[in-house]
Amino acid sequence: MKIKDIRASLHTTSIEIPLLEGRVSGYGREEQKLFVVCEVETDEGITGIGLTGHFLAHSVVAALEKHFLPVVRDMDPRDLEAIHQRVFAKLNPRAMTGTVSMALSCLDIALWDIQGKHAGRSVAQLLGAARDHAPAYVTFGFPQYDREQLAEAARLHVRNGFSALKSVVAVDKGGWREDAARVRVIREAVGDDVDIMIDANYLFNPVEAKMLCRAIEDCNITWFEEPLQQNDARALADLRRSTRIPLAAGQMEGHRWRLRELVEKQAVDILQPNVTYCGGYTEARKAAHLAQTYNMPIANGGGWPLFNMHMMAGLMNGWIVEWHLGMVSVGESIFVDPPRPENGVIRIPDAPGLGLTVDRDGLKETRVEG
Ligand SMILES: [Mg+2]
Repeated sequence: MKIKDIRASLHTTSIEIPLLEGRVSGYGREEQKLFVVCEVETDEGITGIGLTGHFLAHSVVAALEKHFLPVVRDMDPRDLEAIHQRVFAKLNPRAMTGTVSMALSCLDIALWDIQGKHAGRSVAQLLGAARDHAPAYVTFGFPQYDREQLAEAARLHVRNGFSALKSVVAVDKGGWREDAARVRVIREAVGDDVDIMIDANYLFNPVEAKMLCRAIEDCNITWFEEPLQQNDARALADLRRSTRIPLAAGQMEGHRWRLRELVEKQAVDILQPNVTYCGGYTEARKAAHLAQTYNMPIANGGGWPLFNMHMMAGLMNGWIVEWHLGMVSVGESIFVDPPRPENGVIRIPDAPGLGLTVDRDGLKETRVEG
C-alpha cells in the first residue's frame, strides 16, 4: 500500500453555549475558530482522515500539501516509524514544534485511520485495546457565564450524566479571587461526588497560581491544568510542591522531548499528550509509554475527543476524555452520527480505524477558503 495524495482544507463552525443566547463563532475564542482537515489517499482505495486545531491554520494546510506530500508520497502508510523518521530528517531536523507538529499530527491521524481500516481494527485496538470505552468529562465553565449561570450549567451537565466537570480560570476580571469564588460556586452546586477540574490555559504567573491553589485547597480539585505561563516546567514543579492539588499539562507540546521535560522535572501528576498537536498517535503513544514507566496517568486536555478517545481507551494508563463543547460541535458538523458519551462514558465505535464517517455536506458547509 502506498500514500498517493494528501488533501488539506480549512474549516470553521459555530457553537451554542448552554444558557447563553445565540451562537459563538469558532469554539469560544476568536483565535481558535479555524481547524484543519486532511484526507490521505492510498493506491489501494483506502482513505484516512486527520484533523488538527487552530493555531496558524493556514500554514498547516500549506505545510501538508506543499512540504509533507512530496516527502511521504509512495511510502507505505503503515510504516509509521519510517515516515516520522523521514519527516524529522527532511522537514524538522532541528526538532521545532508548532506548524510542523500540527501538520504531522493531522497526517499521522489519517495514517492510523488507514491502518485500522486495512487491518479491520479500531485505532484503540491497534494501540493495545486496554478497554473498549473511556470516561469523559465536560468542559463547561465558559468565561461568559456569571456565577449563577455557572452553577446552573454545572447542575445541567450532571443531570445529563457527567460526573466530572472542567471550568476555565484566569480569565475573570476579578483575578484569582473571582476564580476561587467561581470554583466554590461549582462545588456547592454539584456536591462532593463530582470531579471538578480547572484550566488556566497557561495564563497565570507563579504567584497568582499559588494564591488560587491556597484559596481552593479544600475544594477537592481533581486537577489544575496548565496553570502557568509557557508551561514552564521548573515553575510547575515548584508549584506542584506547594499544593495538594494535582497538576496536569502537555496538551500543546509538539513532540516527546517537550513532554519528557514535564515528566523529568516532576512538573505534573498527569501528562496530557494530545494526538492532534504532539505528532499524532505515533508520538503521543511514546509520551504515554514514558508516563507508564513513572506510574502516571494520561488524560485528554486540549479537546478533540473523537481522536483522543482512542488513546484513553487503548492504553493501560489512559484515563479520561475531554468532552469540549466547542470541539464536539465540530465533530457533529463533519461526521455522521459521531460517538457521544452516555452516562459520562464514550464507547469506541466498532467500525475500523477512527470509526468515523465523514459527512460530505458538513465538510463542504464548514469549509473556508485558505
Ligand atoms: Mg487545556
